Amino acid sequence: MDKTRGILIGRMQPIHNGHMQVIKQILEEVDEIIIGIGSAQLSHESKDPFTAGERVVMISHALFEAGIDPSRYYIIPMQDINFNAIWVSHVKMLTPPFSIVYSGNPLVKQLFSEEGFEVRQPPLYDRLHLSGTEVRKRILEDGNWQELVPNATADVINEIKGVERIKNLSIKEISEI
Ligand code: NAD
Repeated sequence: MDKTRGILIGRMQPIHNGHMQVIKQILEEVDEIIIGIGSAQLSHESKDPFTAGERVVMISHALFEAGIDPSRYYIIPMQDINFNAIWVSHVKMLTPPFSIVYSGNPLVKQLFSEEGFEVRQPPLYDRLHLSGTEVRKRILEDGNWQELVPNATADVINEIKGVERIKNLSIKEISEI
């Protein structure tokens, strides 16, 4: 029997509890999920502090901690390309075949629906607090960022000295203004 696959693409800078809830919900609807790490080429910038490889570790440790069966997901970094019109082909080249796209991003939804994919918009969970922007802001301000991300992700951020990196990047960017 063919497996039903869905894809969720996000920058995951870093993965947070909102992404985790969506991933769990998607796994109730499809056999396998493809987690696409968007803007894989970016790192060491305030909005995109972590490398694709670091994000792979944060995501895989979080999924392991959540007890999600590794045979049900693929984690695939994908670089941006300059041409929106061929981005869907670029994504398809990098991933196992899929039929359902999960996204709340208007451009992502538009591009995939124009190519005939079924697009589903997952509900946003506590968007006021559960966003990468809020996690990075709290890191910068010594707030409680740990409560917004899986414990395993917080451990990885600490191991790679992610707090220090985000603070240093912000000092560097202010001095360049
Ligand atoms: P994101 O990490 O902000 O969000 C990813 C998904 O997670 C969202 O669509 C949303 O469904 C879900 N999500 C986030 N917070 C949530 C919450 N609190 N509750 C529930 N769900 C939540 O990433 P994004 O900006 O949508 O990522 C799109 C990626 O695709 C980017 O890397 C972008 O550069 C890339 N892209 C590239 C091209 C191109 O290269 N031409 C074109 C389009 C998109």
